Amino acid sequence: MITRNSHSVQGVDRAWQRELAEAYRSPVELLTDLQLDPAEFGQGLEARRLFPMLVPKAFAAAMRPGDAQDPLLRQVLPVGDEFLVADGFGPDPIGEQDGPMPGLLHKYQSRVLLMLRTGCAVNCRYCFRRHFPYADHKVGAAELAQAHEYIASDTRINELLLSGGDPLMARDDHLAELVARFSDLPHLKRLRIHTRLPVVLPSRITDQLVSLLADAPWRVVMVLHINHPNELQPELVAGLARLKAAGVTLLNQAVLLKGVNDHADTLVALAEGLFDAGVLPYYLHLLDRVAGAAHFEVDEDRARALMAEQLQRLPGFLVPRLVREIAGEASKTPIDLKLV
Ligand code: SF4
Repeated sequence: MITRNSHSVQGVDRAWQRELAEAYRSPVELLTDLQLDPAEFGQGLEARRLFPMLVPKAFAAAMRPGDAQDPLLRQVLPVGDEFLVADGFGPDPIGEQDGPMPGLLHKYQSRVLLMLRTGCAVNCRYCFRRHFPYADHKVGAAELAQAHEYIASDTRINELLLSGGDPLMARDDHLAELVARFSDLPHLKRLRIHTRLPVVLPSRITDQLVSLLADAPWRVVMVLHINHPNELQPELVAGLARLKAAGVTLLNQAVLLKGVNDHADTLVALAEGLFDAGVLPYYLHLLDRVAGAAHFEVDEDRARALMAEQLQRLPGFLVPRLVREIAGEASKTPIDLKLV
């Protein structure tokens, strides 16, 4: 039986770490708790061997019991389609594995991306990094010192992006050390955190995290990853309100996924729900063509039609930009909507 966690989101590191330790790792256990028969999913569940399943109970609690097509379940359940080999789909769809040093990517002149933590609290089946060699990109004390030196030597860099994995897998005391270490760089203006962790584990928005971001010497931007309005659960919304009150700019990037959010009603509800929660829709990504995720792809014509409908039904500031990452391109490529 899946129940929503009853403790306050104003917990401490221990609470979210304990919840993470208790996350579902067995598809059979997850399906049984959702009142679904694992036997009906057959050998497809063996796709967990391609990429392990990991689903926090707080995220599973937002799934509809008895619904095999639940849009949140579809994002995390291993299925047989992952074994299909599809043209154009490969292990590194956006060609990001080379950086100036392990764990640091410097694709754009003014910002660097630090892979602060290699793990995630959830394994999304469409993840573009599902084959990423995280073990070669671990960031420890030595790598942090190197990254600091690298950024100090290039005054064009004004923004530090924390990514991963998920950077909020780092404990609050580790994040505090990072903020303290990098706060002596006068050319840094912004700290940007790309994270899905509050969405799947709202207890991660601890008081310590909120205070740390409120007191950081830079503007702080948090780019969340919320794909479906059902992910906007009350605990998350309450946590976002605390981040917003602390001065954090909240943006969202979603991935357009077949069978999850490829309907105009869903995308409109997502945009409205995000705004109600103090978050602005930022990007809607076409799927990165990673091996094992072809069944999630929505073609460009359909994506354009969905964007046209959002433009009709939403104020312009609630319509995300439709983009695709193309390997070798310096920035995300906007999809031209005039061709609809
Ligand atoms: S949260 Fe992001 S990085 Fe982590 S598995 Fe999902 S898509 Fe990948």
